[in-house]
This record gives sequence, structure tokens and C-alpha cells, in this order.
Amino acid sequence: GKVLVSGANGFIAVWVVRSLLESGFSVRGTVRSEEKGTHLKTLFASYGDKFEVVVVPDITAQGAFDEAVKGVDAIEHTASPFHFQADDPADLIIPAVKGTVGILESARKFGPAVKRIVVTSSVAAVMNNSTAPVTTLTEADWNDGSVKAVEEKGRDAPNALKYRASKTLAERAAWKFAEDHKSEIGWDLVCLNPPLVLGPVIHEIASPSALNTSMAMMYTAFHNTDAGGGSSGNWIDVRDLADAHTRALTTAAAGGERIIVASGAYVWQNFLDATPEEKKAKYSAGVPGSGKDVQHSVLLDTSKSVRLLGMKYRGFEETTRDAIQDWEEKEELH
Ligand code: NDP
Repeated sequence: GKVLVSGANGFIAVWVVRSLLESGFSVRGTVRSEEKGTHLKTLFASYGDKFEVVVVPDITAQGAFDEAVKGVDAIEHTASPFHFQADDPADLIIPAVKGTVGILESARKFGPAVKRIVVTSSVAAVMNNSTAPVTTLTEADWNDGSVKAVEEKGRDAPNALKYRASKTLAERAAWKFAEDHKSEIGWDLVCLNPPLVLGPVIHEIASPSALNTSMAMMYTAFHNTDAGGGSSGNWIDVRDLADAHTRALTTAAAGGERIIVASGAYVWQNFLDATPEEKKAKYSAGVPGSGKDVQHSVLLDTSKSVRLLGMKYRGFEETTRDAIQDWEEKEELH
């Protein structure tokens, strides 16, 4: 079968493309410009005509994906802005929502062979902003609070909430579209909800300062002397997330499901402590051991991902080792 992957040059998407190709699928990736496809074509050259790139310059335009969906059997929609720099919340919300609804609409009209659409949502759309000391989030939780905050505060809302609102609105819109059109569509929907995504980078970046948002956070933690404390959350290795995207296509029972995929909770210290011994001198040490007994306030219930998709998750050691190796290889290139 052939799978359309939107935003194919992104951090997560390149790994999704690789996972699909390795599983025997043909892949058509969308990028915003011809030059953004060059690195991908080189990276996946060994797959010959099983990998192709098409340019979709503006995912918010009416009918943007009409041509791209023709002849595909499934879609992985990953394209969406992920950053915390937006002043106007619409800069995030419009591409998130219109991109998602637009690709579903194109599939409805021009994708008669499409059987399944997987949308890369986020734990950003699941967080319920509970103030309880410990909350375990499940797929029943929705981040409508972020939408409300952005409605009320607009540009003055915290930037993280603008991003979370964009993901919540996009996922809600996807489920609504599937429901409203269920009698006319031959596909079902799966939404994957990952937390912070970390690991080696195989998409094209000019320099470490051009890292995507989540890997920039990890890079900063490893190059910042006070990285030990503070920031915490939940995470997943990018290769596990890519694998989940392939499993979400090939697992019949995943149809119609929203699925949290995550390795677990972290503080940056857990990653710092996992730095291979021979590399430790080069990176922040933080306060070794201080990440061990942290009480996390937000936990994720990943039992559905294990039950339905058979997920197994990488741990701190593997992700840290491979991310560091990747940074060092990139330094050698520059
Ligand atoms: P990247 O920034 O690496 O990739 C984002 C992709 O989306 C790129 O292909 C980018 O194209 C495209 N894109 C961004 N904004 C627009 C826009 N306005 N119009 C068209 N295309 C756009 O991010 P990730 O790989 O990390 O994110 C991919 C998806 O995963 C997103 O949906 C994100 O919300 C989700 N996600 C990410 C997490 C993470 O920690 N990384 C966590 C949870 C969910 P271009 O290169 O041309 O800008």
C-alpha cells in the first residue's frame, strides 16, 4: 500500500517515513517547497520509487491536499506548527485546524482507497490542568482549558497554552469530521497522543541552534550547567513514536481510537545521569542522582497503547546515548 505523510521533513515525520518504508509501504511525503524535499530524497534513495515527494505549499489553502491524496491507501498527518514563539494564537491554530480538516476533506473527496488516517495529536490535547498533587491522564482527558484560556486572553495567553489549544482544537475537529461524514468515508481515524518527543535527528538541520523545539530543549539541558532541576514532564523516543505510527496503520482494532503513547515521566537529570561514562565530561552533570525519587505531578496511562498496539518503550539510556552520538556526528560535519 501507499501512505501519504504530511510534513515529511519534520523531526517526527522523517522517522515515520523510515518506519513505513522499512515495513514495506510506499510513501509519498509532502513538504512546503521543492528544496525541503532534497534531503529526504537522498536519505531514502535506496528505496527507489517506493518513496516520492510532493510539494504542498500552503496546508491552509482550500483543497491543498486534493492532488496529494490521490492513489494513497492511508494517511499520516503530522504537519503542524510546534513552537512557543507565536504572539497571535491564530498563527498556530489556523494551520493546525485547517491543515487537519483540509487533509480529511481531501481524503473524503479524492481518496476513495484511503482506509485509515492517523493524526499526530499530542498530550498537549490531553492535559487537564488539574491542580491535584498527582494526576494520571487517560484518553478520556481533554485540554479544553487551554482553548478557554486562549479564547479569553488571546495574545496575552501563555505561549505554551496557545500551542496546546492548537492541538486540542485540531484533534477535536478531526473527530468531529470523522463523525459528521461517517456515512461517506471509507476510512477510520486514529489519533496518537505523544508527550515530549526525543531522540536522534535524521531530518535536515543547519546547526544545533536550528533543532526542532523538543530536541532543542534536550540539547539545552545537556549544555546548561543548571539543567538538573526544574523542567519535567513525560516523554517518548522518536523511534518508538514512529513505530506507533506504523502500528496504528496496521492494527485493525486501533480504528476510532485516541491513543496515548509514552515512555514515562522524566526530569532532565534522568537523561543527564544516563550519559555514557566516557562522554560525561563533555555535558552538564546537574546534580547526579537527584532525579531518582522525584514525585511527578502528571503521569500518563499508556495501557491502551500496550494493549492495542503492543507498544514497548525505550528508556533513558538508549535515547540519551543515541541523541549524544547524533550531536557529535553533526559537530564533525560542521
Ligand atoms: P517539526 O517542527 O520538526 O516538524 C513540523 C512539520 O510540520 C514540518 O514538516 C513543518 O514544515 C510542518 N509545519 C509546521 N508549521 C506549518 C505550517 N504553518 N504550514 C505547513 N506545514 C507546517 O516538529 P515535530 O516533528 O516535533 O512535530 C510534528 C508533529 O508532532 C506536530 O503535529 C506536533 O504538534 C506533534 N508533536 C510533537 C511533539 C514533540 O515533542 N516534538 C510532541 C507531541 C506532538 P516546515 O519544515 O516547512 O516548517
